[in-house]
Parts: sequence; C-alpha cells; structure tokens
Amino acid sequence: MTNAAFRRCFFVPTELENMQKGDYLYAGKAKSVYLTDDPKRLILHFRDDTSAFDGEKIQQLDRKGMVNNHFNAYAMQVLEREGIATHFEELLSEDESLVKRLDMIPVECVVRNLAAGSICKRLGVKEGVELHTPIFEFFLKDDARHDPMINEYHIRAFGWAEDQEVERMKEQTFRVNDVLIRLFRDAGMLLVDFKLEFGRYEDELLLGDEFTPDGCRIWDARTREKLDKDRFRRNLGNVVEAYEEVAHRLGVPLDDAGGVRGKG
Ligand code: 5GP
Repeated sequence: MTNAAFRRCFFVPTELENMQKGDYLYAGKAKSVYLTDDPKRLILHFRDDTSAFDGEKIQQLDRKGMVNNHFNAYAMQVLEREGIATHFEELLSEDESLVKRLDMIPVECVVRNLAAGSICKRLGVKEGVELHTPIFEFFLKDDARHDPMINEYHIRAFGWAEDQEVERMKEQTFRVNDVLIRLFRDAGMLLVDFKLEFGRYEDELLLGDEFTPDGCRIWDARTREKLDKDRFRRNLGNVVEAYEEVAHRLGVPLDDAGGVRGKG
C-alpha cells in the first residue's frame, strides 16, 4: 500500500501528514529510528528483518514490519486506555509510527506466567509449567554479553536507574501483564512471557520500544501451539502467518480499511 493509500484507510491527523522524516538515528535488529523536525518526536520504522540469538540468526520475512507496526500500535493504545503511559503517538504509514523521544533505561523488564525460554535452561524446569505467581526479571541490554540477568542491586550500584524508577518499572510491567493476560485469554491465547523497556520523558517514565510477537511468547490456549518469535528461533515456519493469526484473533486492523485511529 502506498503512503497516500494508507492515509485514506487509516486516519492520520493533518498536522502529522506534514511530519518530516529526518536523519537516520540508529538501527536496532528489527527497527530503525529516525529524527523528525520535532526534537521530542522520533519515527520508528518496523523492518521485515527478524533476528534471534543476539543477531546471530537474521532473515527477512515479508510483511513482518507492517504486521508488527500495527500490532504494536494496537497494544500500546490498549495499554494507554488502561492508564499505562506509553511513548506511542500515531501510526504514520504501513510500517512507521511516531513516538515520543525517550531517554531509555538500559534494562529489559521480563514477566513470566508460564515457564519457557531462558528460565527453563537456567533452572532446568519443564517448558509449559504454570507458575504459582508471575516472575519478574531484569536483564541488562547488552547484546555483546547476551543480555545478562541482573537485579536491583546492579541497577542501583551502576546508576542505570533511580530506585523509584526501578519500582515504577516493576509496577507498570505487572500492570501490563494484568491487562494483556486478559486480552489474550479472551481471544483464546496464553501470554506466556514478554519483555518491556522504559524510558524517561520530561518528568515521567513511559513504556517505550514495542510490544509485538517479536518480544513475547503467545500460545494457543487449547493446543499450546506457539504463535510468536519462537517459530523463527526454532525453525517452525509460518512465522508472519502466526503473527497475523494473533492479530486477527485480537481484532488488530492490518492493511485493510477501518484501522487504528490515533490514540485511544
Ligand atoms: P527469555 O529470557 O526466555 O529469552 O525471554 C523472555 C521473554 O522476553 C520472551 O518473550 C522474549 O521474546 C523476550 N525477550 C527477551 N530478550 C529479548 C530481546 O532482546 N529482544 C526481544 N525482541 N525480546 C526479548
């Protein structure tokens, strides 16, 4: 879809039609970030690149950028409606969104509801074991060191965040978990685990980065079929098809008309 066609299908406020995409700021593994003519706003470009194992495995998957852009917009708007402040502003095109420019805290916040992934390797527990209570974990964002697990003492000792920010990140991540567990459950899915990142904006701590099937585990509630990036990590195939299936079950508008309409 062209940008003009996108604007016809997905309402984009007039002032944003004139938002100028500026210089390229940096590229993550699946997103590129651009400056805008507003120093407080950035453009996120969701690419088709898919990476795993700290960038060791990379592949281009057709439509993934478009699906993740819309998925993220939908998730962020659901969270905003539930009172969780995020950086998301507007969808700009099929694979681009406008966000507030945050001063990112270099840690990842992970919550787990069922055992999967690194916790199974670390603790020798079986995949799929239901946890009595959700588990919260911090990881340092450092690909070269494979995002090592850290705790609040590391964050305090190295000055990566203030104590009150640590508390806020935990509190907000658990709130996101409550909201999204319900959302997925109502659509016949289990939210196994997910990763969030936060950043500072003026005096606030906002949810940043993205919420997409690239950064969470989602299983079909009945069959426990994997519907997330584990399909890519484990060569299960139909990766984007699974993301589209999740989007379809949640009612996330993709490239058809009647889409996500700005901030909810
Ligand atoms: P694990 O610690 O089991 O590898 O990951 C826990 C959850 O956080 C999974 O849903 C995983 O997708 C997500 N996650 C952890 N680290 C990263 C990361 O660096 N990038 C992305 N996209 N997701 C991550």
